[in-house]
Amino acid sequence: MDCPKCGTWNPDDKRVCWRCQAEMPKPVEKKKTAPRIFLGMPLWAWVLLGVMAILWISTQCLGPALVGGG
Ligand SMILES: [Zn+2]
Repeated sequence: MDCPKCGTWNPDDKRVCWRCQAEMPKPVEKKKTAPRIFLGMPLWAWVLLGVMAILWISTQCLGPALVGGG
């Protein structure tokens, strides 16, 4: 990045300007979009489990009624 004082380019890991010794601003940390983990599993896995559970329950409840026909 460029020195805010003298405008000289400095490597990003430099804390002070190599030319004027001015303190360099801290580089902006890029936020990584880490997947949300809930109880050791990513959130999407829980959603998938929930959908599968709902499907399973619905087949358990509606299955006999549909097949048996009353
Ligand atoms: Zn400088």
